Amino acid sequence: MSERVFNFNPGPATLPYDVLQQTAADIVDFQGVGMGLIEMSHRSPEFMNVVEETEALVRNMLDIPQNFKVLFLQGGASSQFFMVPMNFLDKQKKAVYLNTGAWSRKAIAEARRFGKISVAYTSEDDHFNHVPSQDQYVIDDDAEYLYFVSNNTIYGTQFSLFPETDKPLICDMSSDIVSRKIDVNKFGLIFAGAQKNLGPAGVTLVLIRDDMLERINDNLPTMLDYRTHVNKGSMFNTPPCFAIYVVREVLKWMNKNGGITGIEKNNRDKASLLYAAIDRSDYYRGHAAVDSRSNMNVSFNLPTAELEAKFIMEAAEQGLKGLKGHRSIGGCRASLYNALPLAGAQKLATFMQEFEAANPV
Ligand SMILES: *Cc1c(COP(=O)(O)O)cnc(C)c1O
Repeated sequence: MSERVFNFNPGPATLPYDVLQQTAADIVDFQGVGMGLIEMSHRSPEFMNVVEETEALVRNMLDIPQNFKVLFLQGGASSQFFMVPMNFLDKQKKAVYLNTGAWSRKAIAEARRFGKISVAYTSEDDHFNHVPSQDQYVIDDDAEYLYFVSNNTIYGTQFSLFPETDKPLICDMSSDIVSRKIDVNKFGLIFAGAQKNLGPAGVTLVLIRDDMLERINDNLPTMLDYRTHVNKGSMFNTPPCFAIYVVREVLKWMNKNGGITGIEKNNRDKASLLYAAIDRSDYYRGHAAVDSRSNMNVSFNLPTAELEAKFIMEAAEQGLKGLKGHRSIGGCRASLYNALPLAGAQKLATFMQEFEAANPV
């Protein structure tokens, strides 16, 4: 095999090498049953066992209380943008949204099709460079829920403290699920596309509190009603078998590598190395305000667009790949998801220092 690079892509993103190898073997022959993983019946005892184990691992990893259901859905995190309001709103009902980036903006646009949406805070005028603190917004008394995005993948901002409210709290955790300990009890619903921290594209994890099920509108299309998937254990139709299997392997790998506590510390250490490299001089400019900095995505600029292009190219030559920023803000972005080794962040931090010295302005 060619030498494995450090993969800083924002999603789909780096996965543990051990998981890729185990997956490669199981695709051809699933644990000796004489059939490959992706040609097995989803109702076979072997695959049913995979789903049960994956759920048990997720529950354990996030310490999910018994009054939550765990679902494996399709359609990406983006389908949750409409499923949430479709299930919980109507034209008379209101929900409050915090607009902290491109993903919340898209969710707001979808939600407006179904109900009255109040945007209690937006950082759009500041190029989404921060997330609000609790005292910066007001939640309407008649809101059905408060919706926010815990980590803004493009801008590199992250809520270190979650909003406090007596309304159901709904969160898009696509880019920081299982990257840190959370108190699931604070939430009514959490969703996350798998392809950043959990596995490949193709499955969306949904955690939904039991009392939320009683608020769901009737007469929804069957596939778009959360209760369908709760009642059938995510097996109403063919689930994304392959993606669920990889999620199981990733969670097993996490348990072997310090569990959520060890992973969280490793994520903090990786981010600290890069923010230290940014703060050392004025050469690099971090996009996020310091108190909103994300441990998952570090977005930054160099003095000129030409230097940014050169930086990305020379980094790639050294095996540091996927550093181009999102097209909406340009510059560079290093995504430091769970499976990105500390050595990758160390190598990038060193490269940043060397590049600055070699390319003065
Ligand atoms: C990547 C991402 C999405 C979109 O996920 P899809 O699975 O591609 O629909 C939504 N929200 C956040 C925060 C993301 O990072």
